[in-house]
Amino acid sequence: MSFVLGLKSKETGREYPKKALYVCEYDFSPLEAFYDYDGIKKVLTREKIEKGPKSIWRYRELLPIDGDPVTGFHTGFTPLVKANNLARELGVRTVYVKDDSVCHPTFSFKDRVVAVALSKARELGFKTVACASTGNLANSVSAHGAFAGFERYIFIPHDLEKTKILASLVYNPHLVTVNGNYDDVNRLCGEIASKYNWGFVNVNLRPYYSEGSKTFGFEIAEQLGWRAPQHIVAPAASGSLITKIWKALKEFEQLELLSGPVKTKMHCAQPEGCAPISTAILNNSDFIKPVKPKTIAKSLAIGNPADGYYAKDIVKKSGGSAAMVSDYEIQEGIKLLARTEGIFTETAGGVTVACTKKLILSGAIGPDDEVVIALTGNGMKTQEAIQDVIGDVIPIEPTMSSFERVINASAHKSAIGVR
Ligand SMILES: *Cc1c(COP(=O)(O)O)cnc(C)c1O
Repeated sequence: MSFVLGLKSKETGREYPKKALYVCEYDFSPLEAFYDYDGIKKVLTREKIEKGPKSIWRYRELLPIDGDPVTGFHTGFTPLVKANNLARELGVRTVYVKDDSVCHPTFSFKDRVVAVALSKARELGFKTVACASTGNLANSVSAHGAFAGFERYIFIPHDLEKTKILASLVYNPHLVTVNGNYDDVNRLCGEIASKYNWGFVNVNLRPYYSEGSKTFGFEIAEQLGWRAPQHIVAPAASGSLITKIWKALKEFEQLELLSGPVKTKMHCAQPEGCAPISTAILNNSDFIKPVKPKTIAKSLAIGNPADGYYAKDIVKKSGGSAAMVSDYEIQEGIKLLARTEGIFTETAGGVTVACTKKLILSGAIGPDDEVVIALTGNGMKTQEAIQDVIGDVIPIEPTMSSFERVINASAHKSAIGVR
């Protein structure tokens, strides 16, 4: 019951077997999984998917594994929240928030990609898995790898958020902090991957890993009642997620699972301090110019994005746009979502919310439109990004008089319901 046929060069279509390969040795472009869509079409219906497990594995026919999954049984099928309060504040008719920061083992969308990559790693016979990470991937490989019984080597830049380090270490991997930024870590991991026979989820397993991101797009379409939304705003680090959301919608369209054609405009959200993809889109440039990241959105701090070119391409093809926001706007985005919807997202989510606001102000998203905002990670992991810009506690003694001094000092007596 497997429909993945092999890997293909993204540029020339040259075919490769289903092994731990990731770059075409002739044209040097990335490899991508391809499928027997005619075969899938014969077996995959809306009804079959709806009866499937409430996890990413309900879309198993469209994922690149041959054997049984080894993890990810509680990954995916996260809420699509209709965000009416946020819509009102942003001045747009309809907003949905696709919330991957909850219902996931490690509270980010990375659980999707890791579940697919580790299932493939087992099929390919790897005993050790590894990754280069901006934080969330580290958490996810550490956790899923523990469950599935892999040795784990995790490489991160030395200056990540405290919680992201702790939320890797608790699963007891070999956590290696590299004195450099993500791009340095990634380059080193490329070298290590060519010497050690390890399954690097985002290096030699990248063609399988990245396919996991499609499930984010599949779920949006299914949860909207089998249709694609008018706009999706997605954050970009390496540019893989945004590219694969688009691929997911196009696959559903091709398989005739949607009620109409895909007219979704894809919009790229990045922090000003690391916006190589958004910059290329806004300048209408074909070239992704690498940058040296400096931003509080550390999960998006990839200065030389592996899929930047493809991300820019699908944004253009879809008729979408791009935005970039400052650290201050990221903090405001986090607070806006918390205040309106009661959802606490990490810095990447702050980027996406703040970029959505900019895209509405610029007219790229119209006031009568419908937009889905991609929330990819949980605010508890990046507390230091906002600790200085939120309110303060109200300390009192354990007495009524002490409490009432606070109440009487408050200018909002009627608002808090004091008679
Ligand atoms: C990794 C990550 C992204 C971006 O992923 P890419 O596929 O590399 O573009 C977005 N948000 C969060 C929270 C992440 O951890």
